[in-house]
Amino acid sequence: MSFEIFNLNPKVLSGVRAQGYTEPTPIQAQAIPIVIQGRDLIGLAQTGTGKTAAFVLPMLHRLMEFPKGRVTALIVSPTRELAEQTCENINVLGKYTGLRAISIYGGVGADAQLRGIRRGVEIIVACPGRLLDHVLKGNLDLSHVEVLIIDEADRMFDMGFLPDIRTIVKCLTKPRQTLLFSATMPPDIRKLVQEVLHNPAEVKIGISAPAESVSHVLYPVKPHLKTPLLKELLRTSDTDSVLVFARTKHRVEKLAQQLQRSGYKVAALQGDMSQWQRQEAMEGFRDGSLKILVATDIAARGLDVLSITHVINYDMPDTTDAYTHRIGRTGRVKNTGEAYTLVTNDDKEMIRALERIFKKPLETRQLEGFDYTAEAAIPADAMPARMQYGRPKPEVRNDRRPVQNSRPRFRSQEPKPSIGDKQPERGRLVSSRTSTGENRPAERSARPATRQQPIRRETSTTR
Ligand code: AMP
Repeated sequence: MSFEIFNLNPKVLSGVRAQGYTEPTPIQAQAIPIVIQGRDLIGLAQTGTGKTAAFVLPMLHRLMEFPKGRVTALIVSPTRELAEQTCENINVLGKYTGLRAISIYGGVGADAQLRGIRRGVEIIVACPGRLLDHVLKGNLDLSHVEVLIIDEADRMFDMGFLPDIRTIVKCLTKPRQTLLFSATMPPDIRKLVQEVLHNPAEVKIGISAPAESVSHVLYPVKPHLKTPLLKELLRTSDTDSVLVFARTKHRVEKLAQQLQRSGYKVAALQGDMSQWQRQEAMEGFRDGSLKILVATDIAARGLDVLSITHVINYDMPDTTDAYTHRIGRTGRVKNTGEAYTLVTNDDKEMIRALERIFKKPLETRQLEGFDYTAEAAIPADAMPARMQYGRPKPEVRNDRRPVQNSRPRFRSQEPKPSIGDKQPERGRLVSSRTSTGENRPAERSARPATRQQPIRRETSTTR
């Protein structure tokens, strides 16, 4: 099947060719004809399936019919990274259309965004908080919006943005076309669909099933040996670009620093970092100068790096959906990838839940030559109970809302790294924070302090 079959506007088709897409992905094959007709649509698809082009291409096609110089399409994204990536996609795919797009999000100054709006744009890609700021200040007129796209609606819900979405929808006039994309369809999103969409068509691609092009391997390990095992895995596996997930912002920072001390080119990506720090980290990872990115779930949303070869769950995610989202970062489109998960005794329930989704047992491996018997530097049972490492056994659920566990307040001293760690070229830590939580200028990548902006609403998540 080729893109010609859709009868897209020739200028849009030229963009597809320039981008090098030859064949539509399954979500594109299903969604494009429906959206071109002007129908509302629910797209159940995770990132990595080509879902962005599935709405961008027919949106560009439709926008060619409407007057220029006013906002006719609005895309709402949960994170700044996703907003930027979507905007980039629009600019590439739509480069011959003459349509203009800008992204709007918090955490950066509003003036440049305002200038962009005033220059005249047809497409706005925005995070809800800053978008509403602009609308309420009268900077932005949404009354001509013909196409509204709500992207990653389930994440929007996780991040508490649904009330903002409802307010945004009230600012739009009817009738308009509305598209809603989500990896999962929890009841709150169903309710939103009923309120906001009109007789929608529904297309589904691989809902909540982890990508098939990825092989999944579990590495059982004691909690205090996770870091040495991770380093040994990095040393012995044929990795190129590795995305490592840890449970909290603090664990992300600490792990990134430990890997950096071992000589890896690594950056942290977590919600407390300033916008430029996040951009720096993502650009370094995308252009290959950083081989490892250690991230929290929310910070990595929408991260679009085609070359990711391995996703490593340093910590098991709290829900099966979160696993699916993480693993969606590798094996994108037709690439294959590997997913390693370091599992402890606390993760048994979650493994069972994942195996129910996979409908088969997950492969378990032991890393040859790794000392699984090494003791923690301070044996956990020698410490007072309140200082013992570990977390309460998680309750396993299949929905997206993380289970609220009380996190450990103290941890045992970090174990010594295993013998034989490779010493790759000294890397840079693009962004890091001190133990007091203050921003620390990045080594070799520091930028003037004036570029640091206060963290705004779009980053006010716990992960
Ligand atoms: P998405 O699911 O939108 O995040 O897309 C994942 C990746 O697939 C992006 O890097 C896209 O550029 C790429 N992609 C989207 N559609 C196609 C296609 N038809 N052929 C090849 N790559 C594609």
